[in-house]
Amino acid sequence: ATAGCTAANKTLKVGIESNFRPFTYTEGGESKGFEVELWQAISQEANLKYELVPMEQSELNKAVQAGKIDLAIAGMTVNKARKDNFVFSDPYFQTGLVILTQADSPIKGKDDLANKVIATKTGSTAYTFAGGITGIKEVRGYPDISEAYDQLKNKSVDAVIFDERNVHDFQQNGGEGKVKIAGEVLNKESYAIIAKKRSKYIGRINQAIGKVVKDGTYETLYGKWFGG
Ligand code: GLN
Repeated sequence: ATAGCTAANKTLKVGIESNFRPFTYTEGGESKGFEVELWQAISQEANLKYELVPMEQSELNKAVQAGKIDLAIAGMTVNKARKDNFVFSDPYFQTGLVILTQADSPIKGKDDLANKVIATKTGSTAYTFAGGITGIKEVRGYPDISEAYDQLKNKSVDAVIFDERNVHDFQQNGGEGKVKIAGEVLNKESYAIIAKKRSKYIGRINQAIGKVVKDGTYETLYGKWFGG
C-alpha cells in the first residue's frame, strides 16, 4: 500500500444545507432529505466514504472553493457564473423559481412586481433573478430562507421568489392558507453536485449518478420525497 490517503479510502467532507427542504435539512440533530438519500446511493455506488457537513449556502460555496470541504450537494443550480468557481457534476434535478405571495395578494405574475419588495435567500440564483426584474423596488436577502417566508407572513414584503420545491414545502409546512404561488415557473434551473475545480471525484460521481438513475434508485427516492 502507498502512504497517505488514496481516493478510495479518504473520508470526504460533503457539504449540505441545514435548511433547504425537502432536499437537505437538519431535523432533531439529523441530516435528512432527498439529496441526503441520493448522495448516500451515489457514494455507495462510487465507493466513497464521507461525512456530512451542514452549513448555510453562502458558507458552503466558500468552503468548496477553498477546499475546506470536498463536495457539496445542496440544490446548487448550474449556471455560467458559478462555472468560474466550481466544477459541477451532471445535473440530477430539473426545477425552477416561483413567486410566492400572500393568499389575498393582487400579484398574478412577474409583470406585477414593479415597485414591489421581494424577499429571498442571499447568494441564491433567485436573489440574482429578482434583482433583474424591471422596476423592482427592493430585494431583501436572508441567509436562511425561513426568514424570508416570515417576512412574507408578516406582510413586510410583497413576495418571495425562490426555488419551486422549497416553496411547495413551505406551503404545506408553515404557510398553509396564508400564501399562494403567483404565475408560472420563472427560470428553468437544474441542480448538480459542486466540487473544487479539477476535483478528481467528479468522474466517478457522474458514473454513479448514471447508475442510480438506470437501476431505479433515483425514481424510488423521487417518489418517496416528491410523489403524491
Ligand atoms: N438553487 C438555488 C441556488 O443554487 C438555491 C439553493 C439553496 O438554497 N441551497 O442558488
